[in-house]
Amino acid sequence: MRDLVQLRPMDAVRALVATGRPDPRVLQAVFAFFVSVDFAIRGLAGGGVGLVGWPGAGLALTLVTTVLAFTVPWHRFREDLVTVIPVLDVAALGAVRLSPDGSAAGILVVVPALWLGRQLGRRGAGVVALAVALLTAVPGLLVLGADSIAVSRAVMIVVVAAWSALAIAFGLERIRYERDEAERRGEELAEALRRIEEQQRTTQAIFDAVDVGLVLLDHEGRYRDHNRRQAELLALAHPDGHAGRAGQAGLVFADDGVTVLEPDQEPAARAARGEEFEDCRTWFGEDPAERRALAVSARALRTADGAFAGAALAYKDVTDLVEALAVKDDFVALVSHELRTPLTSITGYVEMLQDRTDLPDVVVGQLEVVDRNARRLLHLVGGLLDSALHASGPMPLDRSRRDLVAVVRDAVEAAGPAARVASLQLEVELPDELWLDLDALRIGQVVDNLLSNAVKYTRPGGTVTVCLTADPTQAHLAVSDTGIGISPADRERLFTRFFRSRQAEELCIQGLGLGLPITRTIVEAHGGSIDVDSRHGHGSTFTVHLPLS
Ligand code: ADP
Repeated sequence: MRDLVQLRPMDAVRALVATGRPDPRVLQAVFAFFVSVDFAIRGLAGGGVGLVGWPGAGLALTLVTTVLAFTVPWHRFREDLVTVIPVLDVAALGAVRLSPDGSAAGILVVVPALWLGRQLGRRGAGVVALAVALLTAVPGLLVLGADSIAVSRAVMIVVVAAWSALAIAFGLERIRYERDEAERRGEELAEALRRIEEQQRTTQAIFDAVDVGLVLLDHEGRYRDHNRRQAELLALAHPDGHAGRAGQAGLVFADDGVTVLEPDQEPAARAARGEEFEDCRTWFGEDPAERRALAVSARALRTADGAFAGAALAYKDVTDLVEALAVKDDFVALVSHELRTPLTSITGYVEMLQDRTDLPDVVVGQLEVVDRNARRLLHLVGGLLDSALHASGPMPLDRSRRDLVAVVRDAVEAAGPAARVASLQLEVELPDELWLDLDALRIGQVVDNLLSNAVKYTRPGGTVTVCLTADPTQAHLAVSDTGIGISPADRERLFTRFFRSRQAEELCIQGLGLGLPITRTIVEAHGGSIDVDSRHGHGSTFTVHLPLS
């Protein structure tokens, strides 16, 4: 009775929705209600209700079953045991149908059939067919006669009941399958989410641990994220605080460490405009003891359809490197300057000695060797000094209106003896004259460097060609050789100080790797440019372009 008192219809419905398991009390109450309605309708319609005989027994059985449904604690037994109730309902309907006045209650077998189909699955359809056949159809035929309509009705009632059970069994199987699928997908989703969260934590840890300042900007230049190192760097450049937006004025300096960068020229502001760059040198902070030199790289972020979505910047601290290079340059400049003075004196005295006519031939020959080597040393020391002095600053020029053809011709003449010793043919194609504003000494140095390289890196029997042409705006000086050539990988590093190709090292060709960087510095100081064309193993052409005005 306690179960009867405790039945709350809404709770039962909620339990059915949540678990898919029907409460036997609810189903039985529905069945009993329909049976009662059948009796009530027949009573009201004036036909015999028939509370005695088979129909009365059927009603009584329905009542007993309903009491059982409400009082037996079904949840304590095996789940299938509760199916005894719908089977009893089928038996009750079998009896109710036996009313001599006739009854349409047989249609109600659908209720226990659905119940059994729900409870036992496809098996339930078999149980239903058997129960309805034995307890409803056959007794009907036996008691009420077996004319053709009665037989058809009996068969139909079995078929409809079995079909109802089967339909609900399939329906539930489908629902269960879909629920399992949804659960599986939910689990996969939860697993993916867990992995993403873990990855996010790892990325954040790395983001904060690296010793490189990292910034993510959105498409409007706002700081979406930055790491701990970047916060320290920002504190140097913006001691009064940073508003989290690219292009804020602050203590941000250009490569020279002195010029304050305009806010729109700061690396973050350039990146916010979609620019991409590599190792852009900048200084953060003013205090010499604390300021940091940074090499900044930026990459644009794009959406799937290519629209600008922001930028990622990396600020690499290169202060130690910059300071070490400065110390090295100072040292090299000092040493080469100190070497130059005694060397100049040596070449001067050698020249004086060579002017004498009373020296024996053997001494003249020895003096020539001393002179050649002293000049070579002077040339090397000059190169070191140039490289140290102009490593990070503009090269001062002493320009005047000069004939470039004369400058080139002098350099070719000077290279003649070396070309002859190396058994090379030296070919020259020059116009009559070509006047330019230039520093003749420095441009002479450029032609010397290119010619001496061409001679050095060409095997005996080869050819070196010097060709000077001009168009309305530029002079073009090409120095070509049929020498060892330069590989594409080496070509990119040719103008880096102290770079020497592996082939040059392997062939033991002497050099320091300073000639080309100095050459480029001089050419660029004149507003010109230099490019290289080379086929590895077949020769190279270095072309200098100088503006005419
Ligand atoms: P150096 O010749 O003193 O080594 P450079 O700066 O003049 O220094 O040249 C740098 C490197 O470029 C050389 O070591 C060599 O490997 C390569 N190189 C320059 N000119 C030529 C050339 N004409 N042919 C082949 N390789 C060259």
